[in-house]
Amino acid sequence: MESKYESLTIFEFQKLYPDEESCYRYLSEAKWGKGFVCKRCGYDKSCKGSRKYSQQCNRCHRTESVTSGRMFHKLKFSILKAFYIVYYVSTNKKGIASTELSRKLGLQQKTCWFFKQKVMRAMQSSHNYPMEGSVEVDETVVGGQEEGVRGRKNDKKQLVVFAIEKKGKGVARVYAKTIKKASAEELGSFMKETIDKNAAIKTDAWSGYKPLRKDFTNIKQEKSQKKGRNFSKIHRVIMGFKGWLRGMHHSVDNLQAYLDEYCYRFNRAFMGKGIFGNLLQRMAKANPFPREIYKLTYPINT
Ligand SMILES: [Zn+2]
Repeated sequence: MESKYESLTIFEFQKLYPDEESCYRYLSEAKWGKGFVCKRCGYDKSCKGSRKYSQQCNRCHRTESVTSGRMFHKLKFSILKAFYIVYYVSTNKKGIASTELSRKLGLQQKTCWFFKQKVMRAMQSSHNYPMEGSVEVDETVVGGQEEGVRGRKNDKKQLVVFAIEKKGKGVARVYAKTIKKASAEELGSFMKETIDKNAAIKTDAWSGYKPLRKDFTNIKQEKSQKKGRNFSKIHRVIMGFKGWLRGMHHSVDNLQAYLDEYCYRFNRAFMGKGIFGNLLQRMAKANPFPREIYKLTYPINT
């Protein structure tokens, strides 16, 4: 996987989106390319609104902006820079910190951080494609002193459950979720979201998995061997995540979003150059979620 990570070059990106016009054109096509439907009255014919790239309903005359109801709505900076952020987040194999975005784009770090939270929202899994075949599930603790981050404000620990779909000698896909307890209820709810009920699932001997046999007929529990040798694949994925998180972020607040980002990128490594387009499309279709995001505490230096 290392060497195969191919992504859109900055030149290709700049050719696609040389200016604000081209960004708005893209958003307009994503929103109305298949036709207009008025949000107020449901009428399907419109004409150009008074503001650029807006549409006005021919019946009730309501005007709709090209960004309303989308993650690009009410930006306080140039739409072109927002596209650059999506580009950098999607094409940096390990992601990109808001400090770096701020330097590259001449925006305030805080601005970059908040917009990046939106991009990370768009990376959330739809759970439309449950894992199949050979699957492993395991939990781990993220954060806390045992991570070797002495001196940082990182003593909050969080429990995370990981699931991997194995393919040949490697791992095809990964999902992960923060949980409060490794109870059958929480483990089960994650597994039902992410794993097909006929998959061959391997877990360790933890009692929390036992009651899940009624939902997943193919669970095998195996006592973890010395150094978890019989769970080496999932452990490698978990180590990979922890290493990435350590290198990037100083805090485990908002950990789920980082798990989503990691899984999104891992699961789409095969897309190569297509990953940017995939993320942009998700951004152009997804609701803005601003309220939740603006309640997040903004950490310094991430
Ligand atoms: Zn209307």
